[in-house]
Amino acid sequence: MNILFMGPPGAGKGTQAAEIVKTFGLPHISTGDAFRLAIKQGTPVGLKAKSFIDQGLLVPDDVTIGIVEERLQLPDCKEGFLLDGFPRTLSQAEALDDILGRSDASLDHVINLNVDRGLLMARLTGRRICSVCGASYHLIFNPPKQEGICDNDGGELYQRPDDNEESVGKRLDEYDTKTAPLLAFYDNKGLLRQVNGENDIHVVTSEIVSLVRG
Ligand code: ADP
Ligand code: AMP
Ligand code: ZN
Repeated sequence: MNILFMGPPGAGKGTQAAEIVKTFGLPHISTGDAFRLAIKQGTPVGLKAKSFIDQGLLVPDDVTIGIVEERLQLPDCKEGFLLDGFPRTLSQAEALDDILGRSDASLDHVINLNVDRGLLMARLTGRRICSVCGASYHLIFNPPKQEGICDNDGGELYQRPDDNEESVGKRLDEYDTKTAPLLAFYDNKGLLRQVNGENDIHVVTSEIVSLVRG
């Protein structure tokens, strides 16, 4: 089962991915997470990506496509995967088709989480992430049981440096100009499925599970 999550920053892709990979036993491939890990480890990819991420801009296609290509070749992707945050440009989408086509694979579901732009700023500036497992919380919309602490593992929660108003504004603009056009690309292939991402987190999860189970 090869699944792709689309949707603007803050739509709930990471939140839903955490549940969906558990339900279907798939590896979760998030390019944002991969870049943050590379930055933390100080790898060459991390060094290249950092200034773009800090400015709220997309990382160049060659760097991004390279890490996804490597990741998809690992054996745990043979039975399927969940891609979250990739592709974000038409070139990335075409590269993904190429990469999958080379091993006779293809996408089964492209799920778009629809959330009104007016809600995204509040979602992103109130987001808090677990420093241990990466789980996504929200100060108001999805608070942990104990303030500042992850429910899963007691890890400390932190705010992503790019979850500030200025950076979020640029990320939403990048989404509108470069990523939103991909919806038509996947719609034309008959793969696109829409889910209302403004619903309660558990309602959104059930809708995605039903779509994937067909
Ligand atoms: P993305 O991975 O698409 O950028 P996240 O999954 O990190 O988005 O969610 C962004 C923020 O919105 C987080 O703070 C998360 O807790 C919150 N959130 C996610 N889904 C919902 C929802 N259905 N309703 C309310 N808040 C949500
Ligand atoms: P995310 O965690 O998905 O919000 O991504 C965080 C940041 O990483 C984005 O604002 C971009 O700078 C970068 N990034 C993540 N995925 C991609 C991608 N597919 N293409 C380009 N840049 C990306
Ligand atoms: Zn955690």
